[in-house]
Amino acid sequence: MGVADLRKLPSVERLLQHLEAANSGLPRALLVDAARAAVEATRERLLRGEEVSPDVGSLVENALRIARTRGTPTLTRAVNATGIILHTNLGRAPLSLRAAQAVAEVAVGYSMLEIDRDTGRRGSRHQHVEPLLTRLSGAEAATAVNNNAGAVLLALSALARGKEVIVSRGELVEIGGSFRLPDVMAQSGAHLVEVGTTNRTYARDYERAVTKETGLLLKVHRSNFVVSGFVHEASPAELVEIGRRHGIPVMFDLGSGCLIDLRPGGLPYEPTAQDAVGMGYDLVTFSGDKLLGGPQAGLVVGRTKFVEMVRAHPLARALRMDKLDYAALGATLSAYLDPSTVWDEIPVLRMLTRSHDALRAAAEELRDALRSRAPASWQIDVESTTSEVGGGSLPEAHLPSYAVAIRTPTPLEERELTLRRHHPPVFARIAENALLLDVRALLPGDALIIVNALTSS
Ligand SMILES: *Cc1c(COP(=O)(O)O)cnc(C)c1O
Repeated sequence: MGVADLRKLPSVERLLQHLEAANSGLPRALLVDAARAAVEATRERLLRGEEVSPDVGSLVENALRIARTRGTPTLTRAVNATGIILHTNLGRAPLSLRAAQAVAEVAVGYSMLEIDRDTGRRGSRHQHVEPLLTRLSGAEAATAVNNNAGAVLLALSALARGKEVIVSRGELVEIGGSFRLPDVMAQSGAHLVEVGTTNRTYARDYERAVTKETGLLLKVHRSNFVVSGFVHEASPAELVEIGRRHGIPVMFDLGSGCLIDLRPGGLPYEPTAQDAVGMGYDLVTFSGDKLLGGPQAGLVVGRTKFVEMVRAHPLARALRMDKLDYAALGATLSAYLDPSTVWDEIPVLRMLTRSHDALRAAAEELRDALRSRAPASWQIDVESTTSEVGGGSLPEAHLPSYAVAIRTPTPLEERELTLRRHHPPVFARIAENALLLDVRALLPGDALIIVNALTSS
């Protein structure tokens, strides 16, 4: 057995003939790749002395499975039972229904992307978000690019290429691994001038660093960490005053990009874009898919002169958003025009503010559904847990939540793997010897998917 069976292994050519005869409806290109992969995998297993059948029937089965997997798009929806609302790896903000519908409509047809209805001539894609963004933020002008990293890079390039940009040492942040402010700065061609210390930076530190080479004063929101203790930072008013006196623009990278005061929802204060504009910053940049709850985007609001410089820069073309994102962003922003319904309409805001009772009820419902279908040996309970905002936003917000905790006689890792292998995949976490399914970030229909994923194997 094992190695001796190598001679019985069919050739790729012969396996392919069988695959074509099987009328699977799969494209030939996929079958060719799959035939090679299946023969190769079986050969390797035989060489390792494993008990594996070299007959053509089992190889056909293997190859068809491989071809089907490879032919299926990998970006599918997923169920988020981690309790992390803006889960970066699970796609950050889920869109509102209104935004999803707007995307679908624009996606399957032609659209008003860059055309002026009155003249029939070329228009501007900015028209779809600028009026909404200025109305909501109170800024004179606004524009949007691919993401906030792009917005910061673009703004630095447009305003400060070849000049000095003054930043506090306490704000040289790294966001999500690949956005490191000093690196973005270097890429823009601006020169970073660090002032102050990690914990304390005063207005006079900025003042002293101003030279005739200074192109920008930059403030960066510490969106994903906190410093506490012996700390000081220059106030926005002080920074804006220094900028005015020297004729230097002052920019605020707000990051998390809230457009509504979160405190009525029981959350910590997070500066909104309108707060930042009101403080007098010349430019404010923020993400579309963090607390705003929209598509991936980088929003730039501020004074007309500087927004126009941003728009006119050659990088703006390279970083522009596509029509689907404009559709999603326009629909998301328009939801904010009505503060009485926005909390319900935007999924991120809804998840952030779900009540204790609603969370507990959802967890109990999931527990009961699981208990009715799971093996009697499983212990299934509702437990309190803590959700996170995620996405590098509100690091200090601890959101009390409820989870269904599952304990099984077999290793929990197996259950967790079953969940991830399900279609659509379900992501949960293992903690305190239990598989924890936090209900906070579940969407309608997700509970049923979880029950099926865990009990139908
Ligand atoms: C998240 C964040 C960024 C990067 O934004 P993306 O939209 O993820 O590109 C930049 N700056 C700050 C302060 C952030 O919080």
